[in-house]
Amino acid sequence: MSDAETLFERIIAGEIPSEKVYEDETTYAFRDIAPQARVHVLVVPKKRYRNLADLASADPQLLADVAAAAKKVAELEGIAETGYRVVFNTDRDAGQTVFHVHAHVLGGEQLGHFGR
Ligand code: IMP
Repeated sequence: MSDAETLFERIIAGEIPSEKVYEDETTYAFRDIAPQARVHVLVVPKKRYRNLADLASADPQLLADVAAAAKKVAELEGIAETGYRVVFNTDRDAGQTVFHVHAHVLGGEQLGHFGR
């Protein structure tokens, strides 16, 4: 993993403004700047791992924290009952663009099915 700072470290540090939805000791959640659904929130562990695979191997408790934060975001956004999707884009073919692992929480409307 490169040591270069990503955009999300700067957002977590408050150097770049973000619309915070939820924060706890280990995670930070904020609205995606280019929403792909009525609700589109990113949940980011404060400690940086490149992607889901690295996070799952190195720190399963932190992965559990991200999942719990995603659930909390769904409750706060009023979509816990209607349903939502949690996505971790992982590397090239998934189109990951920011290499600080993050969960997309998407909902607030009927979502399209997976596919190309
Ligand atoms: P990825 O493609 O899974 O890596 O997701 C990165 C996400 O970050 C994309 O959905 C972008 O729209 C989002 N994003 C990029 N820059 C910002 C920002 O400054 N604030 C909030 N979201 C951002």
